[in-house]
Parts: sequence; C-alpha cells; structure tokens
Amino acid sequence: MEKLAREQVQALTPYQSARRIGGSGDVWLNANESPFDNTYTVSGQGLNRYSSCQPASLINAYANYAGVDTGQVITTRGADEGIDLLLRAFCEPNQDSVLICPPTYGMYAVSAENQGIATTQVPLTADWQLDMAGIDSALEADASIKLIFVCSPNNPTGNLINRDDIEALLTRTQDRAIVVLDEAYIEFSPEATCADLLARFDNLAILRTLSKAFALAGLRCGFTLASPAIINLMLKVIPPYPVPVPVADIAEQALSEAGLARMKYQVLDLTANRAYLQAGLSMLPGIKVHPGFGNYLLISLDDTDAVFEHLGNAGIIVRRTAVENSLRISIGNRDECEKVLAFIRQQLSE
Ligand SMILES: *Cc1c(COP(=O)(O)O)cnc(C)c1O
Repeated sequence: MEKLAREQVQALTPYQSARRIGGSGDVWLNANESPFDNTYTVSGQGLNRYSSCQPASLINAYANYAGVDTGQVITTRGADEGIDLLLRAFCEPNQDSVLICPPTYGMYAVSAENQGIATTQVPLTADWQLDMAGIDSALEADASIKLIFVCSPNNPTGNLINRDDIEALLTRTQDRAIVVLDEAYIEFSPEATCADLLARFDNLAILRTLSKAFALAGLRCGFTLASPAIINLMLKVIPPYPVPVPVADIAEQALSEAGLARMKYQVLDLTANRAYLQAGLSMLPGIKVHPGFGNYLLISLDDTDAVFEHLGNAGIIVRRTAVENSLRISIGNRDECEKVLAFIRQQLSE
C-alpha cells in the first residue's frame, strides 16, 4: 500500500499535534487549550438535512464580532482548514511556493508539503521579528512565492510581530502575493489585531479560530477574514458541507453577547495566570521567560530534556518546540500554573 501512495505522501511527516504525541498525566499544558470546559446544549434536530455551506447567522455573528463585512468572512473546520484552502486556491502543486518565517506554527509547512508546494524559509530575526530585507530578497529571487505566512502572537515564541512591518509587507506584495496573518491568539492581545488593514489591502487574509480563547478546540471551527475576492476563491475549493449543524449552533452561542462576555472574562482570568507564572518562573535562576502575548509562555533553560522528562513523569505535559533549549507552557487554571511552577522550582533546586 505504501508504494501506491503519492510520493509526497510517502515522504511526509505528519504534523506532530499534541494529541498525536500523547503522553499521560493530569495537567495538560501542551496544546494551548483553554482550561475552561464551558457547556452547551444543542437541539439535536434537523439533522436529516445537509447543513448550509456557510450558515448566514454564523457568518453574521463572526463578522459583527470581528468588525468586518459578511462578504469578508468564511468559516472552516478550524483555522487549519483555512490554511489548506488558501494553499489550494493560490498555489499550483509542484510549481508555486510559500514563504514561512520560523520558528513558527508547524502546519503551514506540513499543509504545503502535503499538496506538493515548496516552502521557502526566511527565519525571524534574533528578536523574533520579520527579517524584512531577507523576505524582500526571497521575493526578488523567487517569483513562485504566492503566500507569506506571518503569525502574531507568534506560536511558539509568544511575541507580537511589528504592525509597521506587516503593513510594509502588504504594500510590497500587492498584486504579487497574499499575506496570511495568523491571529489564532489575538483575543489575548486584541489591540494588536490587523483586521482594520483589510479595508486597505485586498491581499491580506487573517486566520481566526474558536479553539483558543473561546475554549472550543474540540468544536473545530475557524474563520478567515479577507477581501471578497479571496473569500470567493476559497469558497470555490471548500468541500460542500464543511460546517456540521451542531457546530454552527454551538459557535453561534459562543459568539452571542453572553458568549463574548464569558470569553472576555476567561481571557482576563488566563492573563492573570500568565502574569503569575511569568513572575514566578522569572525569579528562578537559570530560566529565561520570554514575554508572552497569547495563552502560553516560552521559557529557555539548560537541560530542557531533563526538565521536560521530569515534568512528564509527574503528569505535567508541556511542549518542546523548534526553539533550542526551550519549552512552551500553556496557561491553565491557577492550580495548574501553581503545580508547574512548584515543580520546575523544585527541579532547578536539585
Ligand atoms: C492552534 C493554532 C491554529 C489552529 O487552530 P484550529 O482552529 O484549531 O485549527 C492555527 N494557528 C496557530 C498559530 C495555532 O496555534
């Protein structure tokens, strides 16, 4: 069977999601999930009919929340499907390519590779900002680059990308390439959104999700905000019934006035926990805590492997990242933050 598969698929290493990596424990801080288990009820009726491809009330609700027109919104199975659709719509397999700026979210490269689309890497600078000169030369040298992925707050580093650079990049790439700005964590730094730039740049696509601040990772509901031209191209390649009826139902509840108020309250709570963990870890010798603007913190320390392993043995699951000697810790509830802090403190004193 192996040999029957596409060569690209034979060679592919699938995305190492936290769920695939597994582990055993009771403190799960490796997938940037929310600790809040909010409950919803669904009617469970009307399931004999196919769902609407883009349920109007859901699109309305998200457009309202994001402050854009309904024609600038598409809903997908998680932000991950948005990435996939953009690749499908804009990149010719075995011909076009995408530009990524590591260290960043792994799915851009995996999704591209999956479809036979090459990836050009222009690493972030030492302070984890865009290397504007490097991106410029890459665009100059390679006419096949169609999409440029930028993540802010960046996963796994946690920092925001300078807005001036994003704007300059959009100007530089007008009529040339799409800038895909991943705002999966933007609710934790709402003032940093670039959604207002949609009014000026029709080559901007913004990825959003209900998986993080809205505490709905298991729902699989995401959105892309973009010019109607981009949205219409994505609608050409999306499967016919991408939004299950119960998903639309729950997503609308999450985006209701009460749902938004709860999300904002929970974001405040997690931001306080992040400050607690940041302060606590910063006091420990031998650890550098990088400023974090999402619901996670990246820490640098020697002996990462040992600490990771000891944490795992104690049932506390965090994430290794592509950044050398670093661990990414999701912000859980206060009890979980206390546990991880106490454990690392004890580790370092031994
Ligand atoms: C979690 C995450 C996503 C994926 O979100 P889903 O909506 O769950 O598919 C996209 N981008 C980044 C940077 C993420 O961390």
